[in-house]
Amino acid sequence: MWLMWIYRILILNHEISMASIEPIILGLEGTAHTAGVAVIKGREVIVNESATYFPPQGGIHPREAAIFLAKEFPILIDKVFKRLPFKIDKIDGIAFSQGPGLGPCLRTTATVARAISLRLNIPLLGVNHCIAHVELGRTVTPVDDPLVLYVSGGNTQLITFLNGRYRVLGETLDIAIGNALDTLGREMNLPHPGGPHIEKQAQSGNKLLTLPYTIKGMSFSFSGMVTAAKKLLHDHSIPDVCYSFQEYTFAILAEATERALSCTKKPSVLLTGGVAANAHLQTIIQKVAQEQDTSFQAVPRNLAGDNGVMIAFAGTHLFNTGKILSVEDSQVKPRWRTDQVQVGWIE
Ligand code: AMP
Ligand code: MG
Repeated sequence: MWLMWIYRILILNHEISMASIEPIILGLEGTAHTAGVAVIKGREVIVNESATYFPPQGGIHPREAAIFLAKEFPILIDKVFKRLPFKIDKIDGIAFSQGPGLGPCLRTTATVARAISLRLNIPLLGVNHCIAHVELGRTVTPVDDPLVLYVSGGNTQLITFLNGRYRVLGETLDIAIGNALDTLGREMNLPHPGGPHIEKQAQSGNKLLTLPYTIKGMSFSFSGMVTAAKKLLHDHSIPDVCYSFQEYTFAILAEATERALSCTKKPSVLLTGGVAANAHLQTIIQKVAQEQDTSFQAVPRNLAGDNGVMIAFAGTHLFNTGKILSVEDSQVKPRWRTDQVQVGWIE
């Protein structure tokens, strides 16, 4: 009898401590094209919904994208709350993408987050979007202390953790790799976003055309390469231009990654962000990792692009380290850099 009581108390204590390290977090992503809403508990994704803005023509217009987010968030939140297997008052924190990103989109998302936080009296957590892409990888793959190649529509960075912060070892000096692919895709009249369509076109290209190769140490630049690739379209086929553009840009990313790996000697390489869905880039970076005796992981395709899950995972770390944001301090940070965040959740 006594033994049974002791056993019950031990189990209860265990459940209480699990509850305190596994908060239930609502994540809201809204830095540019995607409205993402997810609820997670620890590493478990409970609900994940999103809606993506496709510009009718040209690139993403910040105000149009913000109007799209304002329309979609109430629909998504309603859907997510209805699908929760528990009452909404069980949610411990509201995490939102506070920056970096497009000002009008960030302000819309922050307004939604503040409203839910005040209405339900649940603490607010301000997440750095770039770090969320990294934390997603650290949560859903086996890597712990990786060199990160973060490749997306708005950012391209080589990141690693050192002395309390994620440090940027190298980055694009102008536009992001995803932006470069999408801009070139528009020139070819491919649907938006161009990245996955360029990947498909490149598979039937075989002639390597000459493009500029711009890398400075561990940083690089893509906008001149887009201009040069556009010119090649006058005399060459779309598959050959796509093939050449991927080969050149991915070789630059591989060279910078190799340099960063040989400097840092990190035990793993993590590929994250929307462009991480590209199978050819995965193969190239995996080869770089192998040659440096390092393991390789890419985030799963369905979580590579912007989503609410990554914001919720990063928000969990903020919650567990007491980094609660007051509404007064919740102004958005369109230019918030990866290396400005004090990372209190890694030893
Ligand atoms: P994110 O900003 O992280 O949501 O990523 C969006 C970017 O990922 C866009 O620029 C897309 O073109 C790009 N992208 C998505 N899938 C692929 C792919 N398979 N190959 C290359 N780029 C891709
Ligand atoms: Mg992103």
